[in-house]
Amino acid sequence: MTHGIWEDFLKIIKEEAGSRVVDTWFKAVSLYQWDSFNKVVYLLAPNTFVKDWISSNYVELIRLHLGRLLNVENLKVVLMEGSKQKKKHGEAVVDEKIICLVPAKLDRSKNPIVKKTYSKYRCRINSNYKFENFVVGPSNSLAKAAAQAITEKPGVLYNPLFIYGVSGLGKTHLLHAIGNSIKEKNKELSVLYQTADRFVNEFINAIRFDKIHKFQAKYQSVDVLLVDDIQFISNKEQTQEAFFHIFNALYDSHKQIVFSSDTFPQDIKGLAERLRSRLSCGLVTDIHSPALETKVAILKKKAHSNNEELPDELAYFIASSVESNIRELEGALIRVTAFASLTNQPLSLELAKKVLLRSEGRNQKAVDLEDVIRFIHKYYSFNVKDLRSKKRNKELSFARQVAMFLMKKLTERSLRDIGMFLGGRDHSTVVHALDKIEKNVSGDKCFGKLLKRMESEIRRSV
Ligand code: ADP
Ligand code: MG
Repeated sequence: MTHGIWEDFLKIIKEEAGSRVVDTWFKAVSLYQWDSFNKVVYLLAPNTFVKDWISSNYVELIRLHLGRLLNVENLKVVLMEGSKQKKKHGEAVVDEKIICLVPAKLDRSKNPIVKKTYSKYRCRINSNYKFENFVVGPSNSLAKAAAQAITEKPGVLYNPLFIYGVSGLGKTHLLHAIGNSIKEKNKELSVLYQTADRFVNEFINAIRFDKIHKFQAKYQSVDVLLVDDIQFISNKEQTQEAFFHIFNALYDSHKQIVFSSDTFPQDIKGLAERLRSRLSCGLVTDIHSPALETKVAILKKKAHSNNEELPDELAYFIASSVESNIRELEGALIRVTAFASLTNQPLSLELAKKVLLRSEGRNQKAVDLEDVIRFIHKYYSFNVKDLRSKKRNKELSFARQVAMFLMKKLTERSLRDIGMFLGGRDHSTVVHALDKIEKNVSGDKCFGKLLKRMESEIRRSV
């Protein structure tokens, strides 16, 4: 599984930086482990020289493209020195010297390759995401059928198509599959995939650099526009305005538009009413959590495409160890297959148990935002409506900050998700809350104890 991703990654780097760079540096490196839970990828370099060169020249390139292929934001890259071949007690030998390449500030003048990367690949359609490798079950059949139908006659049937559902259930996969399929059927059509947050950034830069006409022309000239995670446009009034005009221009000339979002259009907060009604004027369809059988089918298909056959009992075990998120399901499969191959063991139920049960009780339900809310209500008497409101009296603000702190600590949600959940607040507000609560904890032992008690109660409650 990870092997396939690394191969894809090398192909992209070859296109970006040329085959000499790949042959000299990247071919020597291998993907040692992918920890999807902590979003850390561990790479193995054969010696200090390669490790240092990669870390000083190609960090951003790795984060960008590997992050895209693994479908995570803010991927952390850990470069290790060692060799996969040398085995000691069944484990790969890895040097103690580990450097962690956290998101670094770009010095583009020093690295022209990165600059090229940003402009060229921001809208790339991922050729790995196709209809053929999208497993259909009752949870997603309508969304898939609609997505496939529009590729027959883009702009005619369901326009716009709006697909919503919680994270990790295949929305992005379907958007790319639409793009790939339309391109296969008609090479001439121009298809543009863009995430809404990148759209926002692009718009801001267009204003800054006085390129607004170019920006509008770019979007208005496409035949098919695929906008992922449209909810991130909320509370951005100017961007919404610009998008509204783009939408109208495309819609009026019968160009196909597809949106994905984590909620139903009516539930997206901070969205201008006229845009909201545009989003839902075509077909709105959802994807929900897959049933066990669909999860098993997905696992088997993923394993098969990587030339592994997954015994039934193993597939069922992995499927039932992950609640509902397909991204996590893939992560679990990757952990199991990578562990088997790195330790030269066959895939077995015992091995899967060892790997999955060891990784911090992943068979348990994870804490989510609502779980935290229940305890904020218990301890501070504020309910979700209060927490989401604009009100900012002292007690309420404090309870909201505690909620943000616990949400960040106990769930896997991003700062942005947390801010959105608590009334569409900006991620910087969440950062400020984390800071504030940490300061309070270090200055007040009693409060620290109270937080610990809340944490363990929340964990036990799920
Ligand atoms: P979302 O955009 O809804 O958060 P993604 O499209 O990124 O979810 O899906 C997460 C991962 O799960 C991707 O690697 C995707 O290929 C995979 N996936 C989701 N649904 C399916 C499916 N029905 N069949 C196969 N793979 C799937
Ligand atoms: Mg997505």
